Amino acid sequence: MDYDVVIVGGGPGGLTAGLYTARGALKTLLLEKLLPGGQAATTHWIDNYPGFQEGVSGPQLMMAMKDQAMRFGLEIETDEAVDLEILKDGFSVVGQAGTYSAHAVIIASGATVAKLGVPGEEKLRGKGVSYCATCDGAFFRDEELVVIGGGDAAVEEGIFLTKFARKVHVVHRRNRLRAAKAIQERAFQNDRMDFIWDTVVEEITGEQFVEGVRLKNVKTGEISERPCKGVFIYVGNIPNSQFLKGKVEVNEKGYIITDNDMATSQKGVYACGDVRKKALRQVVTACGEGAAAAFSAQQFVEEKKGIAYK
Ligand code: NAP
Repeated sequence: MDYDVVIVGGGPGGLTAGLYTARGALKTLLLEKLLPGGQAATTHWIDNYPGFQEGVSGPQLMMAMKDQAMRFGLEIETDEAVDLEILKDGFSVVGQAGTYSAHAVIIASGATVAKLGVPGEEKLRGKGVSYCATCDGAFFRDEELVVIGGGDAAVEEGIFLTKFARKVHVVHRRNRLRAAKAIQERAFQNDRMDFIWDTVVEEITGEQFVEGVRLKNVKTGEISERPCKGVFIYVGNIPNSQFLKGKVEVNEKGYIITDNDMATSQKGVYACGDVRKKALRQVVTACGEGAAAAFSAQQFVEEKKGIAYK
């Protein structure tokens, strides 16, 4: 085997798992398709990760997690996992660039922002349509923006966008937000934020760049146009579990089912973070699950090696 453990995904779950297995003297490789940090690294400010009284910047926190894990010997490769092969005596994680064998595998591949699926979304992506306020917010100084969605991400990132935008209009399909109460309160107190309730976006309009959105009130059926320069879409996430192709049990939405010790239906394969079926998706829960997955993987690998060495 090339490694004791291969971890797929470099968000908070994967990096914490890597910290624990590397610190536990297991030869560990973490595969990350982009830059380590996951979705947390695209979050401007994280207010609910313990230990930071004033909150902490997402990129800063994730960079520290990566450096801390590497201090204990975690190896990180830039590669995207496309398959998981179950071998007689372990696993082979197949990437775009290479193949990596291991006694145990931890899936921490996270989730990707969902598309809204309306006309104009694909055509104007990067031309005013964005899924990342931290990346693109500064392009919209003093402009009118539309944020779509009513969850934590939409409202939190909407608040962040008010640093730049003249007005942020949050378009939500119901008349109540899904976001946590503490986030809602900050949004309702922000006079640069405005809520358009019971409304869906039917089309994002514009030729070269976003010029506006066509809205439909779902209660009255009334259609209206709202001019804006940017549209930020936060309508949920899709788990990055497609590459597992039936190798571990997932629910109807593709989230991996594990037990309390992060074990999947495949012995030797563990999962943690946003790719897991669970109720609470936070950096702190991903970290806790990463530690638990690492502990389970360590027990599995050491037991296996102990038997093999007899
Ligand atoms: P989410 O919690 O699933 O919310 C998605 C929102 O988009 C919901 O309000 C939903 O409306 C709306 N929506 C879904 N499909 C839609 C469609 N086709 N058209 C219009 N609206 C649509 O997703 P999220 O906000 O991206 O958060 C994902 C996870 O990360 C959550 O577990 C969240 O708690 C966590 N998170 C936490 C924080 C934080 O704690 N600071 C920050 C970001 C994310 P309905 O409400 O009507 O279903």
